[in-house]
Order: sequence, then structure tokens, then C-alpha cells
Amino acid sequence: MSHTGFVFDPLYLEHKAAMHPECPERLERIMAKIKETKILDHLQNIPPRPATVEEITLVHDNRYVEKVKETCVRGGGYLDPDTYTSRHSYDAALLAAGGALAAVDAVMAGNVKNIFALVRPPGHHALPERAMGFCLFNNIAITARYLENKYNLKKILIIDWDVHHGNGTEHIFYKESKVLYFSTHQSWFYPGTGWAEAVGQGEGEGFTVNVPLKSGTGDQEYETVFRQILYPIAIAYQPEFILISAGQDAHHSDPIGGMYLTTYGYEKMTAIAKEIAQRCCNERIVILLEGGYNLEGQAQSVAAVFNTLAQLNFDVHEKTYPQNTVSSGFINDLNEVKKIQSKYWKLYE
Ligand SMILES: [Zn+2]
Repeated sequence: MSHTGFVFDPLYLEHKAAMHPECPERLERIMAKIKETKILDHLQNIPPRPATVEEITLVHDNRYVEKVKETCVRGGGYLDPDTYTSRHSYDAALLAAGGALAAVDAVMAGNVKNIFALVRPPGHHALPERAMGFCLFNNIAITARYLENKYNLKKILIIDWDVHHGNGTEHIFYKESKVLYFSTHQSWFYPGTGWAEAVGQGEGEGFTVNVPLKSGTGDQEYETVFRQILYPIAIAYQPEFILISAGQDAHHSDPIGGMYLTTYGYEKMTAIAKEIAQRCCNERIVILLEGGYNLEGQAQSVAAVFNTLAQLNFDVHEKTYPQNTVSSGFINDLNEVKKIQSKYWKLYE
């Protein structure tokens, strides 16, 4: 048995709507993949619990939480043009946030070093008072607040590799230094936030690190960003805990995202996060599932993340994939972010 855990519950499959990309099959395919590759045999099962309303309201307005509950009682409906609820979505959403809380409790207790919480609905677009981009409650923000409150942590690093910018997470911690938010995302893309110039405000200035990247960006460029921007900033920040918003919609197969990451790229980003965790915080990492809409591409990418987290040696990689298409424009974008962030952090050349 490895020091790696997973969170899953069949209730996560009960959040569903007809013809929507954020579907229960996403999670079913991930579970099938980690079973079939035997990865699951090496993981500890961390049972989720529902988050309490008090825990959800660490981030969200009471009235909004009530509204989500009421729409579900009435059988569900759309809260914004993209974001649905169904009869059991409220319960699934409480269990999604609570799954992440159970995961950090298990890591803080020392039972496991790292956990991938395979939860739905996703969270990083959700704002305190409204649903957005398939997200009901901001699971990762609730988890960061919980770490601050219950464990008195003062430095939490959130890495967000979803192809979309986590506008909700950024907004919640924009004026604070207790959470450092780092995001790679496709530029000129939903939800339209995440410019390199957005670096935080007041106490939080320098604690938001946005790295917008052009469509077509692949493994090598992501690795360069993680090595040259994330790594030195994280080592200087010395986080006490690392949370990851893991969206596999930057995989080349994704029907929504335009990036070219492969399973090797996901493995590499995980390895760098682990290296930071080893140097800073007793290896503590909790990963939360966000987006990822090609069922097979996402399942393979998640398998690659587990393979690296748990130091297994299964062959989880895809055999063929496209080459990157991004070239000179990338260096300019990278240097632009470095220039902006060098006001706050010492970065490598
Ligand atoms: Zn996404």
C-alpha cells in the first residue's frame, strides 16, 4: 500500500443533466481506468463526508447556499447558462466539498501523504454568491479556509492547471497572503479573467500568479512554466500545504480546451508539485478534480497523476499524440509573467 489515497462516492454520479459535458461518465471512466491499470490496488480509500453548511459558508453566502438547495428540492434547473442542478446535486456538492475536507484531515493526521479527491461537481469557477462554469460550491476555496480555521495554517499554495482560469478561487483570496494562487490557463478563453497583470491587491499583492498561455501549448512549455515560475515562487513562499485544482481539459484530446498536454505533461506537473511538497510541507498534497471532457484523455491523465503521486511504475501513457504548435510566442509570454512577478519574487533566468 502506498502513501497515496483517493476519494470517491457513488453520490458524485447523481449530479447530472441531459447532453452536458460535465457528466457522471467522467468519473465512471476514471474509476474504470484506475481499476483496469491496477493502480487502485495501491491506493488507500478515504471515505468522504458531507461538508456542513457552516463549512460551505466559510466561502459562500448563506442565501446562495439556500438557493442551490431549493432548486434541487424542486428537481433541479439551470443556475446560469452553463451550470445545472439536478435533484441530488446539493447533496453531491456537499459531499464533494466534504470529500476534500476528509482528504485534508487524513493528510494532516499523517495516515497518507497525498490524496486525489475524485469529486463532482467541480468548484474553481464558483463565486461566493453565485454558480458559474459547471461549478456550484468552490471546493478548493472551502478546503483552504478549513485548513486556515481548523489547523491554523497561514501559507497554503493552490496550483490550478485546469485549462480555464479559476476566477472564483482567485477572487476569494485576491486580497490575502495566506493563500497563494498559481494558475496556468489558456489565454483569451472562458471565463475571461487571469491576466498576468492580475497579481492580487493590498495584503494579497504578489500572492496571485497568473500564467496565461496560448492555445497549442504542450508538455515542454508547461514544464518550463512550472520549473521557472512556480518552483522558485513556491520555495520562497514555503507553503504548509499544497492544494491542486486538477483540470484535465488541457489534455490534447479535450473537446473544449485547445492545449496539447499529454499524460507525460500531467506526470511532470505532478512530479514538480511533489518536489515542492517534499521541500516545504512534509509531502502534503490534496488534489481536487475540476474539468476534463474527453472521457479517455481525462482518465489516462488522472491515471498518470496517481502513478506519479504513489510512485508506481505502471505504463499509463498514451502511445500517440500531437506535437506542440507553440514556439516563439511562448518565450515572450513567459518573460512577461517573469517581469511582472519579479517585483515580488526572485525568479530564475
Ligand atoms: Zn476547465
